[in-house]
Amino acid sequence: MLGPPGAGKGTQAERLAVQHGVPKISTGDILRRAVQAGTALGGSAKQAIDSGNLVGDDAVIGIVRERLACADAQAGFVLDGFPRTVIQATALDGVMAARGVLIVLDIVVPEDVLVQRLASRRICSACGANATADTRQACLKCGGPLVMRTDDGAGIVRERLKVYQRQTRPLVEYYAPRPTFRSIDGNQVPDAVTEAIDSAIASAVAAGGARQ
Ligand code: AMP
Repeated sequence: MLGPPGAGKGTQAERLAVQHGVPKISTGDILRRAVQAGTALGGSAKQAIDSGNLVGDDAVIGIVRERLACADAQAGFVLDGFPRTVIQATALDGVMAARGVLIVLDIVVPEDVLVQRLASRRICSACGANATADTRQACLKCGGPLVMRTDDGAGIVRERLKVYQRQTRPLVEYYAPRPTFRSIDGNQVPDAVTEAIDSAIASAVAAGGARQ
């Protein structure tokens, strides 16, 4: 799932994963957990995350390769926040060559809406789940306290949006010629985005011969 920060990738990826009975693999979640746990990976990722920059390609590609090799990802998976560079996309193509068709959904949202969404976004400080607009007090999954992400502050958001334009947006041109690429209007209520994603997947499956 492609799209800028705040496009709703995490929310939609979670729904899609539950609906299809496959894991949601979010590199952002994995990296944040590593930072929280104080692992070597977390130590080296923290500075990049806190400054709004990308973690190095080698480290992130390694994380994804390892995660995709797990038993629960053999029948399919939803990737959230990966790939974010052309180098990562090329590595993913290498993995997918032996695994089947990749459906690419680009969630499109105007920049002023992204800035507003990120300013009010909260996540659970215990389990990392995204809070929805109607759960502003405690996490619906575990009851943990909700906090703002350290990288959702106004200054860092500007940097993340610049990094998106420079390093991730070129992936739209990279994937657009493929029959399994679909662009989704992400500037709608979440249920409408989910519906748009469901029909995009159905048509991408028909076009690309992927399993649904
Ligand atoms: P996210 O939760 O997807 O917004 O990711 C939060 C932060 O984690 C990003 O701003 C990056 O610093 C880092 N990150 C997540 N995914 C990647 C990736 N695929 N490549 C490089 N850095 C990433």
